[in-house]
Amino acid sequence: MTKIINHFIDGKLAKGQSGRMGDIFNPATGDVTAQVPLASADEVRAVIASSTAALPGWMATPPARRTQVLFKFRELLIKNMDELANLLSAEHGKTIQDAKGELGRGLEVVEFSCGIPHALKGEYSENVGSNVDSYTIRQPVGVVAGITPFNFPAMVPMWMYPVAIACGNTFVLKPSERDPSVAICIAELASKAGLPDGVLNVVNGDKEAVDILLRDERVSAISFVGSTAIGENIYKTGCAAGKRVQALCGAKNHLVVLPDADMAQTTDALMGAGYGSAGERCMAVSVAVAVGADTANELVNRLEPKIRTLKIGPYSDPNSEMGPVISREALDRIKGYVDSGVQAGAKLVVDGRDINVQGHENGYFIGGCLFDNVTPDMSIYKDEIFGPVLAIVRVNDYEEALRLVNDHEYGNGAAIFTRDGDAARDFSSRAKIGMIGINVPIPVPVAYHSFGGWKRSLFGDHHIHGMEGVRFYTRLKAMTTRWPSGIKDGAEFHFKRSSDH
Ligand code: NAD
Repeated sequence: MTKIINHFIDGKLAKGQSGRMGDIFNPATGDVTAQVPLASADEVRAVIASSTAALPGWMATPPARRTQVLFKFRELLIKNMDELANLLSAEHGKTIQDAKGELGRGLEVVEFSCGIPHALKGEYSENVGSNVDSYTIRQPVGVVAGITPFNFPAMVPMWMYPVAIACGNTFVLKPSERDPSVAICIAELASKAGLPDGVLNVVNGDKEAVDILLRDERVSAISFVGSTAIGENIYKTGCAAGKRVQALCGAKNHLVVLPDADMAQTTDALMGAGYGSAGERCMAVSVAVAVGADTANELVNRLEPKIRTLKIGPYSDPNSEMGPVISREALDRIKGYVDSGVQAGAKLVVDGRDINVQGHENGYFIGGCLFDNVTPDMSIYKDEIFGPVLAIVRVNDYEEALRLVNDHEYGNGAAIFTRDGDAARDFSSRAKIGMIGINVPIPVPVAYHSFGGWKRSLFGDHHIHGMEGVRFYTRLKAMTTRWPSGIKDGAEFHFKRSSDH
């Protein structure tokens, strides 16, 4: 019998009522393994009501008591790591080791959030005018909604709600309808850790659910992570409805290789960053910009045999280095891009379109693909393919490489591999990119720093987690105080400078 997934509302699992269901697949076999309810507008409104009801009590709970729940939550996450990784991989398809890495990164945000009382401290100035004192505090924004993508079904939600709830907000999570189970299981753990009912609700759904979250006036802020077309629309709609919105979106991350780079190290970096998680990472490297023909030739020679011997298989095989992609549509889209690259005249050095994983003939597998001689007018260069396809663009010098990075519409991450400190420093300074790696291919900031791109990789002002997360999920309030003994008699009609007091 097909498993039916639930929502998680008011501290318990809740059956879907809408009658609309989505299929969940095992990407390694193509089998339907479960069905997820897609919430109706009324169901989403009821979830928002639950989060709204939980807000006053949670806001009033002292920060240190809020974080005691997070300390316990952290313990439960560690205790249940194996089960969570299995659940995640079974729906997403990534290897168990990769799933554990993702869960570990989410856990680090929980750990950061355990210290958030420190970040909520305000500032105080005594005697800003005679007998006048001034101080600032940070207060929660209210009910926050999080809308998250399929590719990090545990980590991306955990970029959001541990910070939001540590700051005193309540949170409605709408996970990807393609692999929601791990997020629901984690919410159950938060409840077991003592999180009051309604502080973290999880509602499954699609556009219909998101449309309500974007427009309901009880929702104060939206954190979105996903593709650019949808994120841009969510940003505009949410802002027009008066909400604070951050939308972290698509990417095309370049790795610039200078002639003096350590080529063995660079090749390994490109393998992991290009083909890890089947290229389904917003920080995956999908373009290698080789400076000079010798650099490009050597890269191709080193990469080709490694790509041909990549171990591709299901997450259940501990030897797998790369699993399947998420869905049949994703597989067809990626193959379509490879076809278009060939038609556009790029050289397909390794063609992974027709690989066969024995016993998994209906799985959504594609082997690593490598293109050489890619030019900036090709769709395989311009678009985010979100699959294991690496494009090599040949350039003559560093300035040309930098221009490519800066002219691309996306600005999530970029890396440079070199031993030249001057070039690395110049790249850090002049690249119009949110996250830069110097000999680091996937420069994802740790939890106490913040994650976010530039250009069309992020809509909104705040990056996510770290102090940027605290700022996004809180509002600043400034108080100016004077006590009767300091007040002079008589009305004052002119605006005063502090030095006039
Ligand atoms: P997606 O945009 O299809 O879905 C993201 C979320 O939006 C899901 O919860 C989905 O249910 C919802 N959604 C889908 N269609 C919608 C619509 N028409 N209206 C409203 N909501 C809708 O993204 P995905 O395929 O799940 O994830 C892959 C994308 O996410 C890639 O573009 C990747 O770069 C991006 N991503 C970005 C970051 C980042 O930090 N910048 C991190 C991870 C993933």
